[in-house]
Amino acid sequence: MTKSWQTKLIHSEAKIPEGYKSLATPVFRGSTTLFPSASVVNDHWDQHKIGYTYGLYGTPTALELAARIGELESGRHTILMPGGQGAIALINLAMLQSGDHILLPSSVYYPNRKLTTQLLARFGVTPGFYDPLIGEGISALIQDNTRLIWTESPGSLTMEVQDIPAIAAAAHARNVKVVLGNTWSAGVLFDAFDHGVDITMQAVTKYIGGHSDLLLGSVTVRDDAIYQRLGAARQVLGCGVSPDDCSLALRGLQTLAVRLSAIEKSALQIANWLADCLEVERVLHPALPSCPGHEFWKRDFLGSSGVFSIVFKPGPTKEQVHAFVDGLKLFKIGYSWGGVTSLVNSYNIGRIPGRPPYEHRIVRLNIGLESTHDLIADLQQSLPNLRA
Ligand SMILES: *Cc1c(COP(=O)(O)O)cnc(C)c1O
Repeated sequence: MTKSWQTKLIHSEAKIPEGYKSLATPVFRGSTTLFPSASVVNDHWDQHKIGYTYGLYGTPTALELAARIGELESGRHTILMPGGQGAIALINLAMLQSGDHILLPSSVYYPNRKLTTQLLARFGVTPGFYDPLIGEGISALIQDNTRLIWTESPGSLTMEVQDIPAIAAAAHARNVKVVLGNTWSAGVLFDAFDHGVDITMQAVTKYIGGHSDLLLGSVTVRDDAIYQRLGAARQVLGCGVSPDDCSLALRGLQTLAVRLSAIEKSALQIANWLADCLEVERVLHPALPSCPGHEFWKRDFLGSSGVFSIVFKPGPTKEQVHAFVDGLKLFKIGYSWGGVTSLVNSYNIGRIPGRPPYEHRIVRLNIGLESTHDLIADLQQSLPNLRA
């Protein structure tokens, strides 16, 4: 059949040599993947089992990133979502039904709390919030209809490190699954499955992405039945991920070790410097004894990353804390963390039940890759704003 030029635009026979072996995973863009014959066409989401069926369930670029995160976390299956919050939502929507009860630490990532109290509550799921330092005491809060216990270690902003093995033992005794938000450890500084966790999630946006230029989330499990529930839910929720973002995350993985170790060292120096400042009441860095649950960090973690909080001594007004934040020149103000730029945010946790009485005096820092010396000088020059 001879082809007109219009047809050649779509069905080309142009040839290129085969066998290019790049060190980088190619970016496979595509909604459609072709089937060899009509009889094998199917819409199953588990492409590891069935072969490629549809781009929404993962292109090779996405599946490679998922498999690598699963390998790092020693899980058996990893599913990617368009962001960390999407990963949280997927876990809840896949695992829960009307009438179920779930437990969350009062230190949980705030959008997770909001998902539970504002959306899941409408579907008949009841949440209970617990002290992140509760440990085996969680037993007393488990009801007959409790399905999931969320953990996050360290907790958002207030940085409590949890006794995960104790919580997991109590949960498993009552046939309850344990989920961990493992973003702070980048999935590598805390071995979640070894400590009894059933489901881990990460905001890949943070340390794996590492450069503040992508949004992705991951859910990793060992259990095949949980994987089937998650995969089936993801299919009907219609959440796919961008192969370009996955390609950036694959690049991020290659430098994760060197970035994390530089950030760890710098963050520890800055945290120790802050601990000696007169204005500072407490440094909430898991590797410092002043952090609640520090003993569990010491027992269970392989290192620390670069996000921690400070609490100022009573005195400065909210406006003065804002003036301190605004007075910083290298630390930029913004959400998310884990990139190369140092960030700062102040919070008022006064009105959230179950959280320590730090009110407007808590400030969270994300340490990036600038010179530690310059970052300390920046903090130092803005401290007088607390009294201005
Ligand atoms: C950032 C973050 C998330 C959400 O990730 P996004 O990719 O921003 O949606 C969830 N949990 C924790 C602990 C986070 O820090």
